[in-house]
Amino acid sequence: MTLQTIAFEKREQLKQKPNSDQLGFGKYFTDHMFLMDYDEQKDWHNPRIVPYQSISVDPSAMIFHYGQTVFEGLKAYRTEDDQILLFRPENNMKRLNQSSKRMSIPEIDEEEVLHYLQQLIAIEQDWVPSAEGTSLYIRPVVIATDPNLSVEPSKTYTFMIILSPVGSYYPQGIKPVSIRVEQQYTRAVKGGTGTAKTAANYSGAYKAQEKATEQGLSQVLWLDGIEKKYIEEVGSMNVFFKIDGEVITPELNGSILEGITRKSTIELLNHWGIPVKEQKISMAELHAYYHNGKLEEAFGTGTAAVISPIGELIWENEKLVINEGQIGEVAKKLYDTITGIQTGKVKDRYGWTVEAASKTMNTSPSL
Ligand SMILES: *Cc1c(COP(=O)(O)O)cnc(C)c1O
Repeated sequence: MTLQTIAFEKREQLKQKPNSDQLGFGKYFTDHMFLMDYDEQKDWHNPRIVPYQSISVDPSAMIFHYGQTVFEGLKAYRTEDDQILLFRPENNMKRLNQSSKRMSIPEIDEEEVLHYLQQLIAIEQDWVPSAEGTSLYIRPVVIATDPNLSVEPSKTYTFMIILSPVGSYYPQGIKPVSIRVEQQYTRAVKGGTGTAKTAANYSGAYKAQEKATEQGLSQVLWLDGIEKKYIEEVGSMNVFFKIDGEVITPELNGSILEGITRKSTIELLNHWGIPVKEQKISMAELHAYYHNGKLEEAFGTGTAAVISPIGELIWENEKLVINEGQIGEVAKKLYDTITGIQTGKVKDRYGWTVEAASKTMNTSPSL
């Protein structure tokens, strides 16, 4: 890794920080942000930390017209002894590059960018909230900036990292959610862009989400786009089912996003000796297990919620009530363990946490 000198322009008047009970998700942004540019001659260059501000992009910039963009999502957590931890962040850097490859965007140096992120968090460490369930959400994003309407990959890009203190996903305690099985719309198909965190996958899902919201349901269960039979994901989370003592999650099939919480869940279940399988599972099979009394638990996994238990599945006109609408034992243990490791309350036996910034961290001379 060759670290480039990173410039730092400090904000003069720091912002007032919101109270931790009004944080919500992605509403407030910290004092500074990270930026870096790409062009064909200089590759990725000019890494800098500047006051959080609007950026100037040409109206013809390719991002606006053809959606050439990728993003990531991870969190920094404050421990009781005021350490700031990241959870498996090297996986996010790797996935950012996988998304970029899919979208014909030049890759970043994973180690270098993680180092820049750590410097940004060191500067913004007072923004990492400490109340139960809160964290600092980290949003890296790359956009195509060529002022050019040709339908082809951009030759210039901007990489940004913005930070947002976020509230607890479960301010009222974990409550299982009701989910609508979507029959009409598709999130992604094999060969498409479902494996990449790229904008259109999310805006393309709003239509299905609207239908769920209309029915008072919180999210969508996505089926495969070809046969509309096999279960893929739930909302923007991966999905797991406990069936007759065994945990099943849909196998990575070329349209499912490979979650880091999914991976951690599978690894924990393996450590605990709970059988876990990655395989195809259809909605019809799940329905049959339900009626045989074998469907014991269902839950989603993702950075935002960590574990989101599913209490009800609405499929056609039937309502499947899972585990009497209560959080299951395995989901609970996973939630407690993963959030415990993230916040330093549970010993990290797996080497998953990385210190983001400590009060004593030396900043480079340029800072
Ligand atoms: C980000 C995301 C997930 C979860 O990934 P994590 O790394 O666990 O946060 C799952 N599905 C989709 C579609 C996603 O965008």
